[in-house]
Amino acid sequence: MTAPVFRFAPSPNGHLHLGHALSALLNVRASVALSGQFLLRIEDIDQTRCTPVLEADMIEDLDWLGVPIDGPVIRQSECFPHYRAALERLQDLGLVYPAYLTRAEIKRFVSDYEAGGQIWPRDPDGAPRYPGDAAVLSPDDLKERSSSDAAFALRLDMTRALALVGSDLTWNEYGSEGPDLFAAPYAQTANADAWGDVILARKDTPASYHLAVVVDDARQGVTDVLRGKDLFEATSVHRVLQQLLGLPQPRYRHHRLILAEDGRKLSKCNQDTSLRALRSAGLGHSGLRRLLGL
Ligand code: GLU
Repeated sequence: MTAPVFRFAPSPNGHLHLGHALSALLNVRASVALSGQFLLRIEDIDQTRCTPVLEADMIEDLDWLGVPIDGPVIRQSECFPHYRAALERLQDLGLVYPAYLTRAEIKRFVSDYEAGGQIWPRDPDGAPRYPGDAAVLSPDDLKERSSSDAAFALRLDMTRALALVGSDLTWNEYGSEGPDLFAAPYAQTANADAWGDVILARKDTPASYHLAVVVDDARQGVTDVLRGKDLFEATSVHRVLQQLLGLPQPRYRHHRLILAEDGRKLSKCNQDTSLRALRSAGLGHSGLRRLLGL
């Protein structure tokens, strides 16, 4: 077996919080326990929300955490040609279409639909599944938008994609910490259909999270994706993209989440649990490990 390659892939669109610290430390621990490597990837595709200042703060937080990074650091904003190439491959397979509905239009469509007493399907993240432009726009509207400078997203035609790769995809899910790291995996069935036609790129951005993450994991030779359980469902989409693009499938390990006091997922908007705030309130390494249950 080649040496495992782990990675931590934060987005500098806010300050790192306790959940990121858990993710980074579990990746480091696993890479040490399994004699592997630990890489850092900066997921800064969203150039409006990710800023150099936030990135510098993030690096400082990681220094404080003391995570030893192997190999060069990849920044997604510098990898656009690779995403474009992958997107073109999917386009050549006839699996990508431009979608013009704005978020507000989708929201309005869903609330009108649900006013009739029926529930519109949501994806695993709780967002309405894409209804298709034709459900909202007249043929003339659609023609007008496609011939103008209107914004659009490029979406994956999931039905056609699944027809190509088959609907029986699985992935191997392994343990993420302690003795579970060494336990046998279980085969998890992918359910990409639940996501509907996910976004792969936008008019001005050649990749979405889903596309960039599978391209980069393959380019960086990542063998072990260890990340929070909040991304467990997204793995179904990643498996479909890996199959379509002929990319290797890593081992997956989804770790427990650190929840806020109200039981909700931590978010970068909640400053109380940011590492910076906790550090300036006097938190040290042993206190952090206690908070993280490590
Ligand atoms: N960039 C993602 C985040 O900050 C993590 C992506 C991943 O680990 O696949 O939540």
